[in-house]
Amino acid sequence: MTAINLDSVRSSLTEARTRLVHQLGELGSEETGELRSDVVFGDGFADAAAATAERTEVLGLVDNLKKQLDEVDGALARLDSGEYGKCENCGRDISAARLEARPEATLCIDCKSKLAS
Ligand SMILES: [Zn+2]
Repeated sequence: MTAINLDSVRSSLTEARTRLVHQLGELGSEETGELRSDVVFGDGFADAAAATAERTEVLGLVDNLKKQLDEVDGALARLDSGEYGKCENCGRDISAARLEARPEATLCIDCKSKLAS
C-alpha cells in the first residue's frame, strides 16, 4: 500500500478550508455558517417571494459549504491527533487512493458503500 504523504494531505486540506471559508464569505456567511446581519436579500427584486426564494437557496448553499468545512476541520483534527486515515466505522486504514481523491473522508470505501445504501 502506498504511504500517504501527510504533509501534502495537510496542505490540500488547508487549501480546501481557505476556499470554503472564502465561498462562505462570498455568500455573506461567517465560518460558523451564520449569515452576517448586514446581508440583504432580494435587493432589486420586485416581489418578496423572489427574495425569499433567494434566501432559501443561499441558506442551502451555506449549509452545504458548512458541512464540507466541518469535514475538513475534522480531518485536520485527526491529522493532529494521529487518527488520520482510519475508518470511523471499522477502524481499518482507508486506502491511500481514496484519501488522495477525498482527503476529508472518514469512512473506508467498504463502509461508505454499506452505509450509503
Ligand atoms: Zn470501514
